[in-house]
Amino acid sequence: MEKKTVLVVEDEVVIAMDLQATLMDMGYEVPAIITSGEAAIQKALELCPDLVLMDIHLSAAVDGIAAAAQITQALDIPVIYLTAYADEDTLKRASLTTPFGYILKPFEARELRANIEIAFYKHGLEKELKKHRQWLLAVLNSIGEGVTASDTEGLIKFMNPVAEALTGWAETEAIGRSPAEVFQFVDAVTRTLLENPLLQSLQADSIVYLPENVLLLTRSGDETPVSDSAAPIRNERGKTEGAVMVLRDSTEQRRMEARLEHNALHDALTQLPNRTLFLDRLQQAVDRAQRSPEFGFVVMLLDLDRFKVINDTLGHLLGDQLLMQAAPRLRSHLRTIDTVARFGGDEFAILLEDVTDVTAACYTAERILHDLKQPFIINNHKLLISASIGIVQSSIPYENTADLLRDADIAMYRAKEQGRGGYQVFDAVMHHQARVLMQREQALTQAIAHNELLVYYQPIVALTTQTVASLEALVRWQKPGEGLIYPDQFIPLAEDMGVIATIDQWVLRQACQQLKAWQQLGIGAWMMTEGRMVMCPHRNEPSPTVAINVNLSSNHFTQKNLVDTFASILQDTNLSGDYLKLEITESVFIENAKEAIAMLKQLKQLDVQICLDDFGTGYSSLSYLHQFPIDIVKIDRSFVQGMDTDAEKLEIVRAIVALCHTLGMAVTAEGIETQQQQDILLDLGCEYGQGYLFARATDGATITQSLCL
Ligand code: C2E
Ligand code: CA
Ligand code: CA
Repeated sequence: MEKKTVLVVEDEVVIAMDLQATLMDMGYEVPAIITSGEAAIQKALELCPDLVLMDIHLSAAVDGIAAAAQITQALDIPVIYLTAYADEDTLKRASLTTPFGYILKPFEARELRANIEIAFYKHGLEKELKKHRQWLLAVLNSIGEGVTASDTEGLIKFMNPVAEALTGWAETEAIGRSPAEVFQFVDAVTRTLLENPLLQSLQADSIVYLPENVLLLTRSGDETPVSDSAAPIRNERGKTEGAVMVLRDSTEQRRMEARLEHNALHDALTQLPNRTLFLDRLQQAVDRAQRSPEFGFVVMLLDLDRFKVINDTLGHLLGDQLLMQAAPRLRSHLRTIDTVARFGGDEFAILLEDVTDVTAACYTAERILHDLKQPFIINNHKLLISASIGIVQSSIPYENTADLLRDADIAMYRAKEQGRGGYQVFDAVMHHQARVLMQREQALTQAIAHNELLVYYQPIVALTTQTVASLEALVRWQKPGEGLIYPDQFIPLAEDMGVIATIDQWVLRQACQQLKAWQQLGIGAWMMTEGRMVMCPHRNEPSPTVAINVNLSSNHFTQKNLVDTFASILQDTNLSGDYLKLEITESVFIENAKEAIAMLKQLKQLDVQICLDDFGTGYSSLSYLHQFPIDIVKIDRSFVQGMDTDAEKLEIVRAIVALCHTLGMAVTAEGIETQQQQDILLDLGCEYGQGYLFARATDGATITQSLCL
């Protein structure tokens, strides 16, 4: 180990020599002996010794204390004073230079050594502490949070640069002041001054968190949103020695939070409020109307007419732009207290607050509708659209928003029915109709669950032989207390409710089971005689001939697993597909012809036949018929029934029969009621007939009974 160097400053040469010898004995190096204060300073700076032994009383102008003061100011080295005697004043002066020890002359070697070693040790410790402190300070000065510390009295002892920037106070000015003066917090909402968390934490002797939404006021009156906490500082024995407060500038965080909140409550495309926000405001309006009867409001539901067509033909991007341009048009006709929201798709909702007069709302609706009819220019396309509006007013006392929106929806659909581009106010009549409809819906849901549906069967007759070719399955609803309800009364409802597939599949299963049961009874071939259905006389007929016709709503064709479902029904009932004919209408081909055709082709793989029902009504065009995989065409009864008196109808029927035959399709005439009608059809070469002339639809048990008589 390198020897430690000790500079000896002593003007009494004998003592100095003695010191030198002793020190060297002890293993220290003594590079020089100095006798004056001035020389001591110079030599110390030159040699940088590890320690200075300094006589207080030097004879020259600069005494030991003054020299030591200068040396310690320039160099970080320990100084030990040598003195024979000292008065109070001198000692006081000496202590101000923070010496590392005093040695009384005459000295003892042991004392000298102990003093020097202690000085080295203390100095090393101090150096380390200083380093540590500097490091801590650097940390505090570099972190992004504002940090301030106080003593036990709560007076500021420290502030880092971020805290300085946040408050506008310099640390030097702030030190010694109360944090209540330097750090002023106000509640962002109430604007009240908050108790200082640093002082609070000292008082409570525990961590104190800042409440939410706190602003820190700077010295110049600016406000910064801040968050974080204050906590007592405890020493290693757990004693509180002050408190520290950490502050984070949460401007960015609050901006992010605000943006997230905005996104959660607004539609990304139009930046209008979304359904959630609208429902919230609507609920508030409903509540307010309940509390104060003089408060009224109006809700409008707006739907763009034929928006889907624009979207499908011109693309979604253009559709989106149209919505983006429509939004400000809507907004421009409303007051600031009103809300217009996008509900999704092309549906918008408007809440007019503080409106008791529905005619005022109607004027607003008219202005909006008129504005929307003005052309939109998008990507050089000139687009013309219109909208339909349903209006509901709070004079009908609503308890919840769902009922209110349902009624607005009803009124909006009424507006669409009445020829689009207009508005409708929900009224008592609609209210009544809506209630009846709702009750029906509930009852129909129950009908399926409670097995209130029945299947009736009506024969379809081969006109030349009068044998029964098939039976059409027709559903009935045996509603308790109301008697038999006919399908016209509930099939459209079931289609709207989306339960038609369930009904159709149930009917299909029943019909397959019934036919299988008849086949197993050995009664599979029937014919008409004298207006009655009887078994064919040829008892040894090799196989059953009667098939079953089942109606299939066009809604079915949106179901992907349709073919699988039908295959499994045939399999479950053990009926061959040859005995099944499915009746569809032309509407199947309107929405999505390609998919429908593909599905029909798959169905035909099950060996079932396809009948085109109600032909002649609706979209009928003879020219497209050949595109579809159809086996039999059923001519609607409206043509058959006028045929004998109306020449035009006769010609239509003749044309249909001729065309179908050219295309290799068979023809069934529906609704034959007279012998004359049957004769004409026979004449035209029509294969099959169905109608009251032969039989009305009846239930399976009645048919079994009459056949087995
Ligand atoms: P549709 O498929 O055209 O069925 C024939 C309708 O004409 C039946 O009425 C039948 O009773 C009636 N009809 C038969 N012969 C004559 C006649 O000579 N004169 C008159 N005036 N009418 C006759 P229904 O049973 O009331 O069925 C009405 C409609 O309900 C059916 O018309 C069909 O579109 C639908 N439907 C019936 N059952 C079902 C089903 O299970 N599923 C689906 N999706 N629709 C069904
Ligand atoms: Ca039918
Ligand atoms: Ca029909």
